[in-house]
Amino acid sequence: MQTRGRKEVNMAGPNVYSVLVTGSNRGIGLELVKHFVRKPNPPDVIFATCRDPAGAQAEELKKMASKHSKVIMLQLEATDPASVEAAAKKAEAHLKGSGLNLLINNAGVMPQSTLASATPDDMMSVYNTNVVGPLLVTQAFLPLLKKAAQGSSHKPLSCSKAALINMSTILGSMEKTPETYSWFPVVSYRCSKAALNMLTKCQSLEYKQDGILCTAIHPGWVKTDLGGSEADLTVDESVNGIMKVLCNLSEKHHGILLNWEGKTVPW
Ligand code: NDP
Repeated sequence: MQTRGRKEVNMAGPNVYSVLVTGSNRGIGLELVKHFVRKPNPPDVIFATCRDPAGAQAEELKKMASKHSKVIMLQLEATDPASVEAAAKKAEAHLKGSGLNLLINNAGVMPQSTLASATPDDMMSVYNTNVVGPLLVTQAFLPLLKKAAQGSSHKPLSCSKAALINMSTILGSMEKTPETYSWFPVVSYRCSKAALNMLTKCQSLEYKQDGILCTAIHPGWVKTDLGGSEADLTVDESVNGIMKVLCNLSEKHHGILLNWEGKTVPW
């Protein structure tokens, strides 16, 4: 077994052998896959997961996968352990003994909710997708991340070695909440992303010994179905920034929240 780590070139995204992005049939996830495909030195394997690969919402991704053999579509419902396990098994078979360098837990939901309107169902279902999902996905792919890290044990923490990225948001930051709360309450979403931040911190403490870099990223306010048309950034602008951030991640970014420009966001 060997992990085909690559020499880092600080251009248009990290140089990795393999990457997996959840929720990649639309929005930021789809754009991440597009950027990886377009890189001058793209990954050999780009696992693009979505809930319904046969559905209408996956058409664009399907076209990309049929044009680019590096893009492998996998069915993955982040809240369903059986689906996550099945995706991990398929990925392992595809990697043929290599590890997974980069896991991006991108899938997420943001229903509207206020303190007055939040219901138990709303709170639990958002938590399930935004926190339990990344937990399950990371548990299932951990052996492959560890394998990648072992294959480059001489290297410092970086995406080209092994990294776990949780797509979070400034809306989950306790310190920043007074700046945005009144115009954008989304209580269930904020609570779930604060919990995702805690999950990232715990993962960073546990997985450091395995050589896996763990970082949360805030992509900015982005024009997607989730972010809405009034958002500040196009999905291309956000993902351009994220790709640069991924290139530069190192030990000092382990266990923190960064924005798409690489600036630290307080928890
Ligand atoms: P979109 O709504 O455009 O896309 C969300 C993606 O997540 C879709 O592919 C969706 O799949 C998938 N998804 C949702 N639930 C699940 C699930 N249970 N299992 C698997 N996949 C699921 O959102 P964005 O692209 O805007 O957001 C991506 C991430 O970025 C999210 O985590 C979000 O919180 C975060 N973020 C976004 C911001 C923004 O302004 N857009 C700001 C800050 C953070 P399907 O098509 O099947 O529904």
